[in-house]
Amino acid sequence: MMSSVVISAATLSSCAQRVAPSIPVDKKVEDKVEKVLSGMSLEEKAGQLVQLNISTLEDESREAIDPAKLQKIIGEYKVGAILNVMHDRAHSRENTAAMVRQIQEKSMEAIGIPCIYGLDMIHGASYITEGSLFPQEINLGATFNREYARMMGHAMAYETRAAQVPWVFSPVMDLGRDPRWPRIWESYGEDPCLQAQMAREETVALQGQDPNHIDLEHVAVSLKHFMGYGVPVTGKDRTPAIIAESDLREKFFAPFLACFRAGALTAMVNSASINGIPTHCNAVLLSGWVKEQLNWDGMLVTDWADIDNLYLRDHVAADKKEAVALGINAGIDMIMDPYDPECCTAIIELVKEGRISRERLDDAVRRVLRLKVRLGLFDNPVWDHPYPDFACDAFADQSYQAALESEVLLKNNGILPLKEGSRILVCGPNANSMRTLNGGWSYTWQGDADKYVPQYNTIKEALEKRFGRVTWIPGVVYDGADWQNEVVEGIQQAVNAARASDVIVCCVGENTYCETPGNMDDLNLSTNQKDLVRALSATGKPIVLVLNEGRPRLIGDIEPLAAAVVDVMLPSNHGGDALAALLAGDENFSGRLPFTYSKHINALHTYDYKVSEHREIMEGSYNYDAVMDVQWPFGFGLSYTSFKYGNLKCSTANGDDSPVTFNAGDVLKVSVDVTNTGDRSGKEAVLLFSSDLVASMIPDVKRLRGFEKIALEPGETRTVQFNLPASDLAFVGADGRWRLEKGDFRISCGGLGVIVNCTETKIWDSPNI
Ligand code: BGC
Repeated sequence: MMSSVVISAATLSSCAQRVAPSIPVDKKVEDKVEKVLSGMSLEEKAGQLVQLNISTLEDESREAIDPAKLQKIIGEYKVGAILNVMHDRAHSRENTAAMVRQIQEKSMEAIGIPCIYGLDMIHGASYITEGSLFPQEINLGATFNREYARMMGHAMAYETRAAQVPWVFSPVMDLGRDPRWPRIWESYGEDPCLQAQMAREETVALQGQDPNHIDLEHVAVSLKHFMGYGVPVTGKDRTPAIIAESDLREKFFAPFLACFRAGALTAMVNSASINGIPTHCNAVLLSGWVKEQLNWDGMLVTDWADIDNLYLRDHVAADKKEAVALGINAGIDMIMDPYDPECCTAIIELVKEGRISRERLDDAVRRVLRLKVRLGLFDNPVWDHPYPDFACDAFADQSYQAALESEVLLKNNGILPLKEGSRILVCGPNANSMRTLNGGWSYTWQGDADKYVPQYNTIKEALEKRFGRVTWIPGVVYDGADWQNEVVEGIQQAVNAARASDVIVCCVGENTYCETPGNMDDLNLSTNQKDLVRALSATGKPIVLVLNEGRPRLIGDIEPLAAAVVDVMLPSNHGGDALAALLAGDENFSGRLPFTYSKHINALHTYDYKVSEHREIMEGSYNYDAVMDVQWPFGFGLSYTSFKYGNLKCSTANGDDSPVTFNAGDVLKVSVDVTNTGDRSGKEAVLLFSSDLVASMIPDVKRLRGFEKIALEPGETRTVQFNLPASDLAFVGADGRWRLEKGDFRISCGGLGVIVNCTETKIWDSPNI
């Protein structure tokens, strides 16, 4: 269905009336929207549908607004939204606020409608110089602890509002299911359940409890990128994806659904295409799945210049005007153009020519106005509100705690914790860099933290502070702006220094990148860095390999050379200190991989592969062999203590006979006892999986259905309980419908499993359950 035609929103049968609105309708909000709309000219309406980059307002210094440009863009074109940072870099809270105030003053004077300003706050207030940054989403995924998504959302909203900005382009919820794709670190990992639960938590923390009245300490979210963006066939950003419709509904839509239901006010559209249709003109997805099927009255914004991409890149439109018409008729409400106010003229002409109907125009304008009313911008285009907690110690501590829980111990032959008094050689290109600890979207788009936060500790500095006897020789360094450039610098010196050390902490990985510039051709860790590890290993000194990377670069051939491996991913400003505390054993590891760490370049898997993808060698004359062989599986992570699982039980209202029986309306109550059997306190991420043993479509080998993070003292046991609605075990069939089929399921947790039996098949009519 989805791949066959691009249909116009008008031809979709409306099921909106049948579903309760995903954001409750508020009469006062609607009255205000209608009142404003009724007084607007066509020109004013067109302007509300366009968002421009701040560079269109900058003066020559690029540090201030040019009043003549302000008059042109806001006064004449009546543009209703602006994004991004002046001079393409973070500014202080004060400067950001002053700039927004200037724009708002003009907007109120010229149009009487407030402008909406949006920023890419990705892991905290990442475009404000003094903002509190948290580990990137991929790290928060590794904590398997929803609290950190809540804390980051809270701090991000508070500090963004403090700079007079009411809208963030977060959370990112593209499933990181292809390790080649350069944006997987922006998401919570490969799994729909983990992604949905963390992003939902972040959404509510960002917006607050009432989406109709966002207060002065909260902001509107933009879920992104709707949807299926993360699995391009080539692995290269913004290139086409092919996704089965059943997977699209069951896996890729799941996080968006959770957040729309939690009241998300806006979403940004996937830049690329799915099954041959650019998402920006996919009426079935934009108008159908989101607006109609969820009865969602929020606003859809394009991604950067993606209307232009419809004709310049994708060739589904002949020119700009056709592209604008395609996008708006498919359900786009705001066009992030970002440099061309003439987009307003195109909209005006298209409406006059009847190629965009007045109804569609008004619907889109209503959605923009509704967002502004809900944000309180008509009452307070700018606001005086105290923000005493801005950049407070509590936010910094939360970020540190999140880093501690996110760094994943993948291997330890006993070298860790490091002994007090050890002579440590620190090397590798990631050892002395705040830039690489933070990743992209940190003060600049591509990430440039070294210039902004010298006050925090790199890994090398943190180890010096904690251990004292540290020698630093990089061996390999990154060179300049292109993240792929490296220079060998003293591998032989590093080897010499290693001989005089007790242990080597070798910090390898990637320099920072973001989006398409992060595309690459080889997932293997770079040759230079592997050479460094090999040369060091020849000394016979134990190597602690620290991976500081935005995606799991392949290390299958050098992993055996390491005594211990830690993947810190992108833990941000407190990540160096966190690592030093963990390596010293002052703190315990509890992070788990939120993605599958692949081993071979031709075997890039996710954990929820189809059962038939894994075949042992077949008996007979043919050696059919398709074995899943990964470096480390999804959910893997070691600790300095050990945990034992016992007593896994499952029951329903029908009782707990074996096998437990259930049907679609039941809730399975699952419990398991977890004991800390070691001699150190520790935290454990308890992961609950299910497997459908026989189904009418080849089932996934297993699926994550729930997770809880618990803290246990040595010898302590806790019972962890999950309420698992039976409908969570349903899958989407080839006909696009949700189905729960009768038969056996395996519920598993911590290596234990129980069989439960579904007694009745149920097929849902509604597209979402
Ligand atoms: C990115 C988005 C971002 C937007 C605005 C695009 O290139 O794909 O994630 O929100 O730019 O900066």
